[in-house]
Amino acid sequence: DSEFSKRSQAVLPSATLAVSKKAKELKAAGEAVINLGMGEPDFETPEPIAEAAIKAIRSGKTSFYTPVGGTLGLRTGITQLTKELTGQSLNVNQVTVATGAKMALYALNQILINPGDLVVSAKPYWVSYAEQVHLAEGEFQAIGDAQTGKLTVEALEELDRVPKLIILNNPTNPSGILYSREELLALLEWTEKHAVFLIVDEIYGRLVYNGATFTSVLSLKALTNSKVIVVDGVSKSYSMTGWRIGWALADETIIRQLNKVLGHMTSGPTAAAQAAAEAAVTGDQGVVEAIRLTFQERLNWTYDQLEAIDGLTLAAKPEGAFYFFIKIDQPVLDRLGLNSSAAFAEKLLEVEKVALPAGEGFGMPGYLRLSYAQDQASIDEAIARIKRFIQE
Ligand code: PLP
Repeated sequence: DSEFSKRSQAVLPSATLAVSKKAKELKAAGEAVINLGMGEPDFETPEPIAEAAIKAIRSGKTSFYTPVGGTLGLRTGITQLTKELTGQSLNVNQVTVATGAKMALYALNQILINPGDLVVSAKPYWVSYAEQVHLAEGEFQAIGDAQTGKLTVEALEELDRVPKLIILNNPTNPSGILYSREELLALLEWTEKHAVFLIVDEIYGRLVYNGATFTSVLSLKALTNSKVIVVDGVSKSYSMTGWRIGWALADETIIRQLNKVLGHMTSGPTAAAQAAAEAAVTGDQGVVEAIRLTFQERLNWTYDQLEAIDGLTLAAKPEGAFYFFIKIDQPVLDRLGLNSSAAFAEKLLEVEKVALPAGEGFGMPGYLRLSYAQDQASIDEAIARIKRFIQE
């Protein structure tokens, strides 16, 4: 019996970690590894944003703890941006800033979930949703239309019991799918009827392509007196993953509870990083559009290449985020003598030095996730290697 807590033991090691660790080892040994496993935009953080952090450091704005839920300047900036993008007016007490959307989600699980509570998400899902629920001793269940990767009211109706919380990702990691306005309205109606908390993680909301429309739940539902919580952050839209700033938007009572818990976890996010995030949300939003356009170009170019590979299947063309979730056809696995997508990913790395996380970690074995948050030349080379691996 381990002396470690049951909670920590219940957490699965990240399925992507093994591949990622091996990729790093190979790279350190001088191998030309291409890692398309990353969820990080490959651009530098835009200069004016970085400059705001440098200014904060130089002007001594770093020698004190900021308020637990974030500086007033950043929270004000977030409410202004939210108003601009979605039309919803929030007050600053409806915002809590955390060290990344990941921490906001973690703290939300901590304040909402009792041991045994059911938390539901769509399949495939972002790895951390499941493990954060396990850390709160809740029961995680991924449901939905396996064909589209979406959570539907029909699937919710089939559950044995009403969940305490639903976590919705829009657009989705790993499959890049968008929920329509009608689908969101139906889910909102269902969660309201059953008094279920609904977290909508909109971290990829501004990275949608080829004319697709992203509908923020904020444009459909007032957060005051509601159980709807929106999670977002600067990581993906502004290429700021390393700054670790994300936030939750909700009714004030939820935010107060969150801040109470976060007060024992972080004493507020890093001051200079908040200054940078404030510059991001209040500054020229053209930087987001530049990032979006680059991703769009890569999506279109890469999709055509992947489509042309015999042995791989793409469900639908992704409309958002920056990943492809690719099915490995069974005959390919059979021919290679591999019994799972995890084994495929391991072998691909060993033989062709391409690192991709396998579907197992996203609740959907048989798949690979390819991130196009990499320069096009690396993606092209990786695809050539994948093709060779499959076809030889
Ligand atoms: N939500 C989803 C769906 C993500 O893919 C990620 C990052 O990969 C996050 C949240 C976390 O983002 P942050 O960098 O703000 O913690």
